[in-house]
Amino acid sequence: MSSTIDLRSDTVRKPSPGMRRAMAEAEVGDDVARDDPTVRKLEEVAAELYGMEAALYVPSGTMANQVAIKTWTQAGDELIAEAHAHIFHYESAAIAAISGVQPHLIEGTRGIITADQVAARIRPLNVHHGPTRLVCIENTHNRGGGSIYPVDVVRDIAALTEERGIRFHMDGARLMNACAATGRKPTDYTQYLDSATLCFSKGLGAPVGSMVAGPADFIEQARRWRKMMGGGMRQAGIIAAGALYALEHNIERLAEDHENARILAHGLVETGLFDLRPPELDTNLVFLDVGRSGMTAFELRDAMAERGVLFYAEGDGRIRLVTHLDVSREQALDAVERFKDLLLTV
Ligand SMILES: *Cc1c(COP(=O)(O)O)cnc(C)c1O
Repeated sequence: MSSTIDLRSDTVRKPSPGMRRAMAEAEVGDDVARDDPTVRKLEEVAAELYGMEAALYVPSGTMANQVAIKTWTQAGDELIAEAHAHIFHYESAAIAAISGVQPHLIEGTRGIITADQVAARIRPLNVHHGPTRLVCIENTHNRGGGSIYPVDVVRDIAALTEERGIRFHMDGARLMNACAATGRKPTDYTQYLDSATLCFSKGLGAPVGSMVAGPADFIEQARRWRKMMGGGMRQAGIIAAGALYALEHNIERLAEDHENARILAHGLVETGLFDLRPPELDTNLVFLDVGRSGMTAFELRDAMAERGVLFYAEGDGRIRLVTHLDVSREQALDAVERFKDLLLTV
């Protein structure tokens, strides 16, 4: 039996020996008392990466987004987000449960919403509405197919939110993928934002953690919400060292994941049985419509799992294949061959 090729998510890759060594050797202290030098270093490096005053290390991307939402809003407010946003679909209804905020959703194009769309949804201040307090975007956009926000769209939304006194947050779980694909710096995007997140535990390859960055007073308040949500950690330098290692070693190589995603996408589309949906591929998330394969997304997932290729199926007839540190070019090519073995042999 040939080896398993795990394309379920860029969260499944495991820390490398070098990363594990850095973690084992990390200097640590009690981070709730702010005594952990490795966490402090990570927060400094992360703040600098985003060109922001401060950053906060948190256990997950969900907590990074939710402490930001909690900090910027009050119960009864509204926030504007894209209809397929991670903060809305995959964070266990935390916007409602933790912040008591009502999401006002806009259908984007590949997850991208424009300043004009946002302008049309900002609530007038009167007794009928919850005030629009926050606009959230996601870059790259997960369900939009790893799509990248154009910088001028971010700039235009920022001009609007600033004029209207509304905060502007970016779920930047995979912002470094956007940077690897465009050659831009993170600050090309974050200069327009009030707050932004980054996941160390996706394509960057660290075992645990994300960060949220923003103004110093925002981060101070976010630190309190982090504690309340159970995210105050003690000798967290052990995991923060993995994140620091990821920032030093694993950013440049994200371009390889994008190349391997193209190998998968092209190989499968060439069979004539799959369509990219959405039809463009920017980064490492490949969504394919399985309509012409003669199988449902779930049947295909199960049949391919027997052939050692793992991925997620969606209810809407799509499969999602994700490339990452533990998928080589050879494995991407091999995965395509295993699909062909299943679908093209008579
Ligand atoms: C993965 C992800 C997150 C955070 O997820 P956690 O599992 O909580 O770390 C946030 N936003 C997007 C777009 C993601 O893909």
